Amino acid sequence: MGEFDLIDTFFRRPPGVGPHRSVVGNGDDCAVIQAAEGMQLAISTDTMVEGRHFLSTVSPARLGHKALAVNLSDLAACGAEPLAFTLALTLPRVDEAWLTGFAKGLFDLADEHNCELIGGDTTAGPLAIGITVMGEVPAGQALLRSGARADDDIWVSGFPGLARLALEAFRGTLHPTLRAEAFEVTRLAMERPDPRVALGVGLRGVASAAIDVSDGLLGDLGHVLRRSHVGASLCLDALPVSPWLAERTEEVQLDCILAGGDDYELVFTAPPAQRARVLALGASLGLVLSRIGRIEAEPGLRLWHGELDPWPEDPARQAVPNRWTSFDHFRGAP
Ligand code: ADP
Ligand code: MG
Repeated sequence: MGEFDLIDTFFRRPPGVGPHRSVVGNGDDCAVIQAAEGMQLAISTDTMVEGRHFLSTVSPARLGHKALAVNLSDLAACGAEPLAFTLALTLPRVDEAWLTGFAKGLFDLADEHNCELIGGDTTAGPLAIGITVMGEVPAGQALLRSGARADDDIWVSGFPGLARLALEAFRGTLHPTLRAEAFEVTRLAMERPDPRVALGVGLRGVASAAIDVSDGLLGDLGHVLRRSHVGASLCLDALPVSPWLAERTEEVQLDCILAGGDDYELVFTAPPAQRARVLALGASLGLVLSRIGRIEAEPGLRLWHGELDPWPEDPARQAVPNRWTSFDHFRGAP
């Protein structure tokens, strides 16, 4: 099978199958999309390389899902609704069974979000997947990293940390090891993350800043703090601990939740006046949203043990040193 047969067979969908939202789709020199009146395009790219971003043990369907999910997660963090994406695929060989599984995982998630594959590039080489995703957001309403203000609450969605727990299970560093069920659940979190698109859209006009957690909660929150020129205090006892993590030592829990990475949950800030709306949004989406701290004018990130409410007079009394650094591809894992 040659390059063009491959594209036609696995990545060009006939009329009537999947969303067709472009003016000119996959197959021409360029795809053409029409921006809707009053909307802005939000665009993001993420690449996944074998051994770096995924283990060779992942099934092709889950890999197809994840490659798109990590991109949709960036749209979610901006409050954008998915529109279309391109796929740059580098394959060591044409393996039809692998391609069938990969395309299934990819298109199942794309269809769920009404997101059309409008083009791409296919080359031979070490396995790598690059996706550029486009979404739309009402003009001026994109959620940014730069909008956090002193006294805003800090929130996180879901239960971060499970993907890291699964990774450590694969690495064999967990003693005792995970039980079979826990392994399957955490492995699903790592291999098949659920991008929080509906949450991001619902946070338009509610959140002051947002980011998706790809490199670890503390590191990604740090990006918000720097871009917003503010600092923060986080209450470690307010962090959401999944039942699958609760059985591990506190050290492992905090390592996974604060610096785990690969979570694809959203961390966002919102003024205290928005608390009821945030909680109502979480309830309507069936998603746990946890208030974990607050933004402060003083730069830097402070961690402490204790109760979130009432806010302690002097959090320094129970301060916890920050020993977590987030993942950096050029510096290696923490
Ligand atoms: P060009 O040389 O003009 O860039 P290509 O030969 O690379 O075009 O690709 C032919 C067509 O197939 C283009 O429309 C391109 O967008 C599409 N395409 C190539 N690879 C993929 C892929 N992996 N998924 C979807 N569309 C693809
Ligand atoms: Mg090309």
